[in-house]
Amino acid sequence: MQLESTGLDPAFAIDPDTPLIDRELLSGILLLTPIFIFAMGPMLGLSVDTWLDAHINQVLQLLFTSVLIITSGRSILIRGIKSLISGHLNMFTLITIGVTAAYIFSATATLLPDFFPEEFHDPRTSLVHSFFDACAMIIVLVLIGQTLENQARIKTGSELRSLLSLAPTTARLVTEHEEKDVPLSNIHPGDHLRVRPGETIPVDGTVLEGTSGVDESFITGESSPVVKNIRDEVIAGTQNGRGSFILVAEKTGSETLLARIIKLVGSAQRSRAPVQKMADTVAGVFIPIVLSIALTTFIAWLLLGSHPSLPYAIISSVSVLVIACPCAIGLATPMSIIVGIGRAAREGVLFKNAESLETLGQSKQIMIDKTGTMTAGHPTVTDVVLFGNQTEQEILSFAAAVELKSEHPIATAICQASQKHNPAPLRKADSFLAIPGSGVEGTVAGKAIGIGNESFLKHQRISSRELVQFKQAAKPLRDNGKTISGVVIDHHLAALLAITDPVKPGARTAIHQLKRLGLAVTMLTGDHSDSAGVIARSVGIDHYKASLSPQEKHSFITELHAHGEQSVMVGDGVNDAPALAAATVGIAMGTGSDVAIETADITLIRGDIQLLPYAIQLSRTTLSNIRQNLFLAFFYNVIGIPLAAGLLVPVFGSAWQATPIFAAAAMSLSSILVITNALRLRTVTICTDTNQPAL
Ligand code: ADP
Ligand code: MG
Repeated sequence: MQLESTGLDPAFAIDPDTPLIDRELLSGILLLTPIFIFAMGPMLGLSVDTWLDAHINQVLQLLFTSVLIITSGRSILIRGIKSLISGHLNMFTLITIGVTAAYIFSATATLLPDFFPEEFHDPRTSLVHSFFDACAMIIVLVLIGQTLENQARIKTGSELRSLLSLAPTTARLVTEHEEKDVPLSNIHPGDHLRVRPGETIPVDGTVLEGTSGVDESFITGESSPVVKNIRDEVIAGTQNGRGSFILVAEKTGSETLLARIIKLVGSAQRSRAPVQKMADTVAGVFIPIVLSIALTTFIAWLLLGSHPSLPYAIISSVSVLVIACPCAIGLATPMSIIVGIGRAAREGVLFKNAESLETLGQSKQIMIDKTGTMTAGHPTVTDVVLFGNQTEQEILSFAAAVELKSEHPIATAICQASQKHNPAPLRKADSFLAIPGSGVEGTVAGKAIGIGNESFLKHQRISSRELVQFKQAAKPLRDNGKTISGVVIDHHLAALLAITDPVKPGARTAIHQLKRLGLAVTMLTGDHSDSAGVIARSVGIDHYKASLSPQEKHSFITELHAHGEQSVMVGDGVNDAPALAAATVGIAMGTGSDVAIETADITLIRGDIQLLPYAIQLSRTTLSNIRQNLFLAFFYNVIGIPLAAGLLVPVFGSAWQATPIFAAAAMSLSSILVITNALRLRTVTICTDTNQPAL
């Protein structure tokens, strides 16, 4: 409900045990009930006036209302007064001025009725009319709105808390002499921890001893357990199966992947979307306008209204202040953002900020990397073509020694192929240098080894005859969609490795859906254009750019921007990071390199390419939800203000005068509508096969 604080509270920092109704609201409702009966009794058919003297009735109302303002209304009024002092006007300014005006008038009417001229007095009771019921009602309704907002936040925060509850609170520390359970906060990188059957893995680390199947479904979406052997990485929050193992802790506490995910989602929910700025600007202009309309209303009724004009002037201006309360406007954007980002996280799309949620849906161009993004990223070496006098085994062993230090999917494939051929432990390279998007270099047993693509080979000073040989051997393999890397030993072409990486199962459908959503799809790859073409055709991509260095991927994006176009870049590798950073929206595969994930605005947790059209459609749906909310919020003010100002009274009679109570109810209803509409985002179907958002 509060304009200033909306969107600033970390959704998941709200105590889950927050009671449904807080004390302020509860005492407010308890006090409001008698005030309502005393004030409205006759209208409700209760003959209050037969057993209670009319003046005592009014004094009791004054008493109850004063207590209600002091207890339940205090926090609202303090904020209002602060806003007046600081000049940062907000909805509390309007509420405070409205309630105070109504209260002072009513209190004076009760205690000093003679202060008012004759025509103010009710001929029957000779009392002056008071508005205690309206004061009390406004405060209670504002509190109800605040409670509803908190509830909505708690609801969306529950997704994050369920992630948090994945992490255990203790770990079993293994030292030289003993094993004991210690609090997780006492675990440091390098500690040895035992994970027993069925336990949740407490930290990110590497298996040191033992083997077991681990359920990593919350990160990878893969429901069958992944077998973990020595040297395999395990992730905090994943579930150990039937085996038992000892791991070396690598990342603990806030460093773990799980903790980073939770932090990311929390801060994204708190970030501000660009549309929010518009809502803020409008609210900033709106409040002074409302204040002046209220003042004009007051003066106009005083001068032109029928007698007694002062009560009418007060009713109308207080109604204007209350009905115009822009609390719903303040809620419109952040509520949808919080719900949208929470929903996305539940389904495996992590937004780093609200801005990317907003801009993603507006983009028309999408650039997608090939290896690891379109393809599964689990490549295998299929062919080894030899050019020198080394054996296949020797080549693989030299290459693997260098690739051991690379994070590239091709590197993993080469290491695996080498281990298959000679199960002895891999050799280690003495020096290592990665040229992202090209290849890797290193020294193994005194020999200079290089593995990489064609442009990399050109820089390795191999002879032009060797380069021709390479191209000839590569051609037929590339035509089968294979990726080719050459192996150079001491500046001589020694071999060619052909690697296949099948496209991801959902890739074709995803591309089809992206096109249906109206996006132009381009594949950007560092691979040779022959291999790239085969892959592009197999998934239905019409445009691709091949043999791009990381810098060229980056400049492809910046050139688009120079033409005033927005861009979405999707990638997984170190070689994609510059382009991901430059793109309007960068999307990283959760299975990709850390650098890519850190530079991107969005991460698809499981590296699931099918989440791409989903994320775009979710973004569009959230945007239209925000627009609906802004409409709901403004619509009320536009309709409500003239009604409250009493503009319709001269035309249709006094039944068209909105009372402060009516105004308070209308104001709360608009907030309730906005909150309810935003919560719809939690469950609405996101259809990725149509251009129309589901809302
Ligand atoms: P993509 O853009 O498709 O993700 P990269 O830019 O990562 O591919 O790599 C481009 C090409 O450079 C690869 O097709 C491969 O031939 C070569 N390459 C890159 N890194 C390595 C490596 N570590 N080992 C062998 N070859 C590599
Ligand atoms: Mg890649």
